[in-house]
Amino acid sequence: MFIVGITGGIGSGKSAVTRQLEQFGINVIDADIVAREVVAPKEEALQKIAQHFGSQILTDSGELNRAALRAKIFSDPEERRWLEQLLHPVIRARIIQQLGNTRSNYAVLASPLLLETDQHQLTDHIVVVDVPEAIQIERTVARDKNNVKQVKSIIQTQMPRDQKIAKADTIIDNSADLATLETKVSALHSKLLTLAKQAHNHD
Ligand code: ATP
Repeated sequence: MFIVGITGGIGSGKSAVTRQLEQFGINVIDADIVAREVVAPKEEALQKIAQHFGSQILTDSGELNRAALRAKIFSDPEERRWLEQLLHPVIRARIIQQLGNTRSNYAVLASPLLLETDQHQLTDHIVVVDVPEAIQIERTVARDKNNVKQVKSIIQTQMPRDQKIAKADTIIDNSADLATLETKVSALHSKLLTLAKQAHNHD
């Protein structure tokens, strides 16, 4: 299977791109969704988190209390590392499993941390959705109703824009309107179909 990684900073337009690719019939695995699945009730990773941090990390109904977990790791890099070392391999394994079940002409792995983790090693082609920081902030604030300061602090934790661009095989500039993006995604889809076919012929 030809696997396309799609990434970009917060609010860059990854979901807008993958939604359209799904409409073209492409199977999309979303790393954010997988990351939530692996800590669902009854999952082994959630049991390990509860053993490590204590049962107060769970809600009354046995779900992960995300706010409590965020508070634990926010100020403690060692706890953050512990959590990442637990979750990253589990997330990766499940992504591989889900990619193995895809049946479209190519498959997409959408992940905000594609380049920050080893997830990019699972892909044959990397697409970076790119907008200037001011647009990132404006669109994220409008979408999530959070403030500029919060969005800026999230951007600070992500890989800088120029480094992401340097690792891209294809860059989608999403600074114009949604109609422009749609045209670009149609062209991207055609290109990816061609690349997938070429890769297939080489096998
Ligand atoms: P996150 O990493 O936070 O999940 P994302 O990269 O998936 O973000 P989207 O949710 O696709 O980003 O886009 C952010 C917001 O900007 C959404 O509300 C989306 O509708 C809007 N948006 C995306 N592209 C454009 C555009 N070209 N013009 C105007 N609004 C846009």
